[in-house]
Amino acid sequence: MGLGYQDTPLIPGTTWHVHDGERPQPRVVAPATAGSPPSDAVVLFDGVSLDGWEGNGGPAAWRIEDDAMEVVPGTGNIRTKAHFGDCQLHLEFAAPTVVKGESQGRGNSGVFLMGLYEVQVLDCFQNPTYPDGTTGAVYGQYPPLVNACRAPGEWQTYDIVWEGPRFEGDALVRPARVTVFHNGVLLHHAVELQGPTQHRTTAHYAPHAETGPLELQDHGDLVRFRNIWYRPLAGYDAG
Ligand code: MG
Repeated sequence: MGLGYQDTPLIPGTTWHVHDGERPQPRVVAPATAGSPPSDAVVLFDGVSLDGWEGNGGPAAWRIEDDAMEVVPGTGNIRTKAHFGDCQLHLEFAAPTVVKGESQGRGNSGVFLMGLYEVQVLDCFQNPTYPDGTTGAVYGQYPPLVNACRAPGEWQTYDIVWEGPRFEGDALVRPARVTVFHNGVLLHHAVELQGPTQHRTTAHYAPHAETGPLELQDHGDLVRFRNIWYRPLAGYDAG
């Protein structure tokens, strides 16, 4: 006895019948639990070591304490040795517990997808700044739909669905797209990026590889990160 039906019409664009019991079952994944990734995730930072990361011209020089890494101001951005492309990315961050500075000077860091495209990290809990530079902004391009910041020092989450741009020769055939949840709240829904992140000017594409590192920004503030992992969008065709 089958699980479904074979006497139903084909779903357009597929070789599967409606409710087809022969269609492959979804792969089983043990979901994430607090502080640990789903079973098929690629762990980028496990709270113990920065061996998978590098700094500018040498080892990553940020601090590790209590399962988290913390920016060491002046040591520069760090990035994963691993390069990857389209993915679901999860990370947790906390703004400095000691509040100082204002606008872009408060708890600034950043998550650079493929090392080029910044989802802003900033402490915008009762801290206004220019909207396309607030917490969770696609920096310089898209303000987030809402401000879902937790208080300084509290752990917060980003869950990001990233699709990198596609080039054929020098031509852009599909812009990058990103969806971002902050603390479970939707900030961006499949917005199309205009190009790699810029400061004080507009963004434009130039051809680059389909993979790149995850980069975290040293903007001089004591921002912490933990529990960083991704899942490739394998088997997913953005169309
Ligand atoms: Mg930043």
